Amino acid sequence: MHTDGWIYLDNNATTPLAPEVFEAMTVWLRDQFYNPSSAYEAARPARDAVERARESVARLLGAGARSEVIFTSGATEANNAALWGALRANPERTHVITSSVEHPAVLEVAKEIQRLGYRVTFLPVSTRGTLDPKDLLKALTPDTAVVSLMHANNETGVIFPVGDLARMVKQADPKVLFHTDATQSVGKVPFRMESEFQAVDLLSLSAHKLHGPKGVGALYVRRGARWRPYLLGGHQERGRRAGTENVAGIVGLGKACDLARESFVQEARLRGIQRRMEQQVKERIPRVLINGEGADRLPNTSNFAFEFVEGEGILMALQDHRILASSGSACTSGSLDPSHVLKAMDVPFTAAHGSLRISTSRYTTEAEIDRLVAVLPGVIESLRRISPYWDSDRNAPREGAEVFIQGKFRKEG
Ligand code: PMP
Repeated sequence: MHTDGWIYLDNNATTPLAPEVFEAMTVWLRDQFYNPSSAYEAARPARDAVERARESVARLLGAGARSEVIFTSGATEANNAALWGALRANPERTHVITSSVEHPAVLEVAKEIQRLGYRVTFLPVSTRGTLDPKDLLKALTPDTAVVSLMHANNETGVIFPVGDLARMVKQADPKVLFHTDATQSVGKVPFRMESEFQAVDLLSLSAHKLHGPKGVGALYVRRGARWRPYLLGGHQERGRRAGTENVAGIVGLGKACDLARESFVQEARLRGIQRRMEQQVKERIPRVLINGEGADRLPNTSNFAFEFVEGEGILMALQDHRILASSGSACTSGSLDPSHVLKAMDVPFTAAHGSLRISTSRYTTEAEIDRLVAVLPGVIESLRRISPYWDSDRNAPREGAEVFIQGKFRKEG
């Protein structure tokens, strides 16, 4: 994989394009430029290629029909389309339920919906990042139009049992639409829309999170779901998403889905790497929390919180070792506030600031993780040496510093 000598451990931000995907895309960029909607014969290959890609996405999701897949410009558009489309199709209902740890592509839409006068419930999460199904049931009212709960969290990798949650919602009220933002889990764990996810109506995904190209994704819409199109205009995508198809991008997404299906064997390997890395970090570095530890998590994501250090500092020091990772989420970096996800999990301020997200992919090698684990103790130690709260002689927090131990704040010393 071409990463220019960098050890790339930020795959939840984006993934390198698979060489096979690049190969599959080039002909549609270079030679086959036709508009798939054109009626002449020359355009047929482009039309067929889009349909083959649709089949590939449907197959990865275990969908019942390929017509349930609508191509979009990515997960942001898919999330917008899911929520606005659900509300517009059910105008008599004016309540939305989501969680406080969603990606901004859901959270900001929910806030806008709220500004327009709808009622929105933001469900809380536990300190492990998990959701209490009872909170969801309690939040449901006869005017609930849509529930939108992410599958895997982009920052912590914590997985919500959306298959079960959707079933629960449908049992309580079959008219409520259930949407899940599965951007971080598609391609990493298997999907079965016809069994495990049978009660999920809408699902978002984005190609560049599974070694496909940026700027293309899909919204799965279950047959018969009460949903209306979001982008209006031409008749593309059977009138459900207007705009000339991004043929090369769509072909790339299809190829990425085919490769992901073949590479599910990687799940166990990545889980092994994750377990070993987390164990070694805990052994070698004092005062580290693993956000979401103990919860069901993605095999590729570990979110560490090092007390009394600053996340940006960790990233800069790791870059000196040619390692790329992230603190919080790439979309929100630039702000000094701890991420909304860690805040919702009640991660203490002193630790939330020192968060480091490591996200691997099928191209990540054990040697790369060994390198990270080798340099990280030195990086943390040198940052703590300049922290006013850290006593380097004792390699522990300074007396009187407020620390967080086993779920409670207490004074050190
Ligand atoms: N949802 C989640 C959970 C994500 O991680 C991302 C990408 N960071 C998105 C939505 C948005 O995806 P895109 O930028 O491809 O539209």
